[in-house]
Order: sequence, then structure tokens, then C-alpha cells
Amino acid sequence: MFLNVSSFVALPRNHCNQAFISAEERNYVKRLLVTSSSETDDAIQINPLVANVKISKTVEVFSLVKEMEAAGDKVTSLCVGEPDFPPPQAVLDAIVRAVQDGKTRYTGVTGTVELRRAISADLEKRKGVFYPPENIVVGNGAKQCVYQGVLATCGPGDEVIIPAPYWPSYPEMVALAGATPVIVNTRKEDGYLLTAEALRGALTDKTRLLIFCNPSNPTGGVHSKERLDELSSVLQDFQKVVILADEIYERLVYEGTCEAVASLPEMYNRTMTVNGFSKSHAMTGMRLGYLAAPTKLSKACTTIQSQLTSCAGSISQAAGVAALTEVSEEEMIGNVDIMREKRDFVLSELNKMPNVSLECKPSGAFYVLPDVSAYYDGDDARLCIDLLKEKKLALVPGSSFGSPGTIRISYATSMEELEVAMNKLKEFLEAQITNE
Ligand code: PLP
Repeated sequence: MFLNVSSFVALPRNHCNQAFISAEERNYVKRLLVTSSSETDDAIQINPLVANVKISKTVEVFSLVKEMEAAGDKVTSLCVGEPDFPPPQAVLDAIVRAVQDGKTRYTGVTGTVELRRAISADLEKRKGVFYPPENIVVGNGAKQCVYQGVLATCGPGDEVIIPAPYWPSYPEMVALAGATPVIVNTRKEDGYLLTAEALRGALTDKTRLLIFCNPSNPTGGVHSKERLDELSSVLQDFQKVVILADEIYERLVYEGTCEAVASLPEMYNRTMTVNGFSKSHAMTGMRLGYLAAPTKLSKACTTIQSQLTSCAGSISQAAGVAALTEVSEEEMIGNVDIMREKRDFVLSELNKMPNVSLECKPSGAFYVLPDVSAYYDGDDARLCIDLLKEKKLALVPGSSFGSPGTIRISYATSMEELEVAMNKLKEFLEAQITNE
């Protein structure tokens, strides 16, 4: 076990595509990278919890992308974590209806009854797990829900287990709560899945929370039902540990199924299930997610949310109802099929590239995390920066995800863009070998 807080700052990190970046945001990034020493600044004390959150390598790449785009370069970006297709028509129609019907006011803290009922029914129908609507807290995106779940359960002196590779926000959210992230490395030979053995080795009397992302961002790995059972039996010896199951990619599974952690009878009472609409329904900008949990936990999250943000946007919530009740299963499956094709294309291209290893086929989400440690002596950040400068291809260094020597590719973009990107990557890597 080692404690390893990666550097990251809460930024519009997934928004690498130009359309979403204003000049103001660009300047914001630049300002973050510059240390000011004016007298006024010296007098201001920043909360050490915040001051210790550092800027990630992702931001380095991100700010470089923006500078290049500002200079007129056309950058191919596979760093964005959002589907390239628009939300379903039924969702767009619901937004218009909500505006026309004047649904523009605060809702209850935990969300509208209509949306919480729809979520409850959806979870029961698709995942076989029942949460009454009162136990569902709708928030402004799954990200906020994760943070509220962390704040509700952890504080100074507590340890939080985070399997690596991880979504970079997890360790930073834990650090912001004053708790200690305990990073548990998984092995690429195991498909980066958490094993019962590794989990047991990391659990201590201080462990309060396990953050479990399934399917995983950034690996695309999906833990099987058997593996969940194994992890659950280890946790039986540690009854105080709560599980935050981030299942935001659960609808994007290409082989097998993704069982909800809370559907295991012995886990339900201590699992906070987080999910949302950003990835499944391409509703990233609507900022809509939720946390469902037993009463004590959902109440604590409600308390936090009531002081932080009051409620999620009323129009987004109306859109969420439509997403769950009006979008056909065929449409959802159609999107998964398209994503599977893209995944297969990227995998087959990566297989043709020299010294790139990808031992396990990712079976969920829309990411691939190939090992490129044969290049640049494993310095993935340097590799990404040179790739960006030389080929104008933006990827995220794996070290941002606690996985040095890898690169994260998001294939949630058009096939044309993927073809260009794969060619660029291949040419770049081949040139490294020629230059040796
Ligand atoms: N959890 C994981 C693993 C993610 O990758 C993301 C977004 O990238 C989120 C949560 C947050 O999603 P949302 O847009 O609902 O805040």
C-alpha cells in the first residue's frame, strides 16, 4: 500500500474540444500555471486542503491544446470524456417543454419527485436494486454526488481506498475532505481489475470508504459478478467500510454485464450508488447525476447538498425524466453498438503499433489505456506533450490516472477523427523507433 495523492485541480478538464472553451477559460488556465508574488497575494491565506491540490499533467496538455488552437492549429483531441452525439430527441423536446411550462424554479433539494421516481424505477428494472425515491439525491452531475458521498463519510484520520488507475478527481476529493487516499495498484495482467487479495491488503481499521468505479474510467475494465462477490466477501470482515460505487458508465458495456454493487444483498446497506446522464445520454452540459443510498447516507448527502447548491437545475431534471421514460431501449442499444465499433477499431489499430501493449480488451466505458512505457523511458507526460506538438494529437498521460507509462484514449468521437488520430499516433511512435 502506498499513499499517493496525484496532482489535479478542479478545472473543465474534459473540455478539450474548442467549442466549449472560452477565452476566459483559457486565461484561467494560464493564470493557474503562473505563480504570483504580489503583496496582496502574500497576505491571503489559502486553506491548506485546497492549496495542496496541485495542477495535473492533464492541465499541462490541456493548456497547450488551447494555445495551439488559439494560434490557428487544428488539433485532433481524444482527451474529451463525453460522447460526440447529441442527447436523444426526446430529451431535447423535454427541455423545450420544460421552458414553455415555466419549470424554471428551485425544486426540492433532492430533486423532483417525478425524476426520483423515474430513477427508482429504472434502477429496479435494469439493475435489480430498489431504492425508494426518498433515498435518491439528484445533484448537479455525478461529480458533485461523488464529492458529497466522500464528504458525508470521511474526514481527517480516515483512509479511503482508491484502486488505480483511477478517475483523477477521486484522490483530490478525498484530500479536500481532509481524509487520506490509499491508492491500491491493480495490474495490467489482471485487466486492471481490483482483486480480493489487493483489497484485503489495503484495508485497515482506519478505512472508511472504498471508491469503486465500475466500468472504469480510464481502463474500460468491468468487474464480473464473481469478482464483485469476492470483493464483497473480503469486506464482510470490515463492516464499517462504506462503498461508493461510481457506475456512471454502466450502460456502456460491450461484453457481459455490469452488476450494481448494491444488488449484492450483503452490500446494499453500505453502498452509495452514483450514476448520471452525462455518459449514457450525452447530457454532459446539463449537469445531472444522482446518488442513491440507504437512509443514513442519503440524508447526510442531502444535508451537504442543501448547503452547497440547493438543487440540480429544474430544466435538466425534466430532461432527466424524459431520458429515463421516453428514450427507447433500441436507441440506447444503438449507441452502445456504435461505441463498440469505435472501440474495436481503436483496439485493432493499437495492435498494429510497435511496442504498444494492451493486455486486456476493455469491455466498458469509452476509454482505452494502452501501455507505451517502451517509449520515452516511460515518461508519458513528455510523450503526450511531444505528440501534441509534433502531430497535433491530444491524449491524456496515464500518470494523471495513477498509471505512469500509459496513455488514455477516449474513443467517444467520430470515426473520421479516430482514423486521423490512430494514423498520427502510429506515425509518431514509428518515428521514435527510427530516431533511436
Ligand atoms: N465519474 C466518472 C468515473 C467520470 O468519468 C465522470 C466524468 O468524466 C464523472 C463521474 C462525472 O460525471 P458528471 O458529468 O455526471 O459530473
